[in-house]
Order: sequence, then C-alpha cells, then structure tokens
Amino acid sequence: MRKQIAAANWKMNLTFQQGEKLLDDILDAGINLSPDQQVIFAVPYPYLLMTRSEVEDAANYEVAAQNCSDKISGAFTGEISVEMLHSIAVNYCIVGHSERREYFTESNSLLAEKINRCLEYRITPIFCCGESLAVRESGKQNEFVQTQLGESLFHLNAENIKKIIIAYEPIWAIGTGKTATAEQAQEMHAHLRSILAAQYGQEVAQAISILYGGSVKANNAKEVFSGPDVDGGLVGGASLVASDFKEIIRSLK
Ligand code: PEP
Repeated sequence: MRKQIAAANWKMNLTFQQGEKLLDDILDAGINLSPDQQVIFAVPYPYLLMTRSEVEDAANYEVAAQNCSDKISGAFTGEISVEMLHSIAVNYCIVGHSERREYFTESNSLLAEKINRCLEYRITPIFCCGESLAVRESGKQNEFVQTQLGESLFHLNAENIKKIIIAYEPIWAIGTGKTATAEQAQEMHAHLRSILAAQYGQEVAQAISILYGGSVKANNAKEVFSGPDVDGGLVGGASLVASDFKEIIRSLK
C-alpha cells in the first residue's frame, strides 16, 4: 500500500517556543502510526533541528523544509541549499507551494530544477500543484495540472518519479475555509493518477502518494481522505492547533 500521509505546513507562523510546545502537545498524544502511515512537519528553517530531535523517537514522524534553492551552492545570500538540508538529516522538502509560485514567481521549469536538486541529495520532494479559482471556473483545471506535472516532473525516469510525493492544492481552497468536496478531491486525484499512469504505467502511478491540501480541518479530514486516490493531506492552518492536527492524523486511512 502506498503511504498515507498527514503533512503539516506551518508556513511563516509560530515562534520557536510555540513550535516546540505544539510538537510536544502532538507527540505526547503518542499516536502510533502503522508502517503505511506517516506524519511530516514542514517547519521554518530555524526550527528544523529542534523538530528533528523532537520526532527522533517517534516512528514514521518526519521533518520537512518548506522550500529549497534550485542552486547547488555559492553566492546566493539568504538561500538554503538541499546539501545544507541533507547535512542536518532533513529528508523531505515542499517544492512549488502555490504561495511560492505566486509571491516568489516560481515557474514550472524552476521547480523542475528544485526537484532535481532534492533527488540528488535523496530528499523527498512534496511537489504541490493545483489551479486558481479562475482556472477552475473556466473548467480547465485538468489541463492546468497536467501542464504543471509535465513541465516540472516528467523529465524524471520511472525510478525517480516514484520518489516524489504529490500534493494537489487547489489555490481557491488554501486558507480560505473553502474545502474541495470529497468528490472534487477524488476526481482530481484520479485524474492526476491517470496522467501519471499514461506517462509511466499503472504500477508506478499506483505507488505515488497524492495528498490533498486546502482547508483540511479536524471535522472534514476523514471525509476528504476517504477517496481511494486521496492519500492524506497537506495541512496549513489546522496544523497549528494541536488538537486539530491530532484529529487529522487519526483520520488517515
Ligand atoms: C497549505 O498551505 O498547504 C494549506 C493547505 O493551507 P490551509 O490548510 O490553511 O488551507
């Protein structure tokens, strides 16, 4: 079975102390994960080491960066390379979150480079895709995500594409309180899997975890995750509240 994942995206929220307390509150619940389940905390860079040591003894709890540079190293003030992440044993990184695409003008081709850097250092990218409200209203969402996948991922061979986690995050649902219905999520996830199958074959497509992101909350997670092609979620706002995120973890299949 492919991994079922609850990934927390803290974005630029919480002080160090607040982050530490949040992790304590979540981990103290001792929610045991099956070998097919995983929890990933994508935290701000200065909290990565603290988070790594917090989850050290908790099986299948992992740490992610929220971004990385497409460059290997050098004179890029303020940037963080995948080699740096690798050197502190961070094994996951969000790539192409819609906020980075929008506010930092990250293009599909730039994201392809970030994906390459991650794989060079055996860091698993959590690759985000998803359409805006305007695209959804024009009915072109399927073609839109197909282009995102094609331009950022389809240079990879079958062996490497299997190392990617995909997060479908419709922009109109992020931070808006407007969740896609379980049917909308399942429909798009099935579409994404069919694109992967057309490119790489069924066996590869079936092996890739596809998370849903966009206003997942404690009270809707179970339903949203219920679709056969929905393998958990990437969660922003609700991951900042211990009781909510614990419920979301418990909602994993
Ligand atoms: C996100 O930022 O990835 C996200 C899904 O945010 P929210 O859960 O707050 O909509």
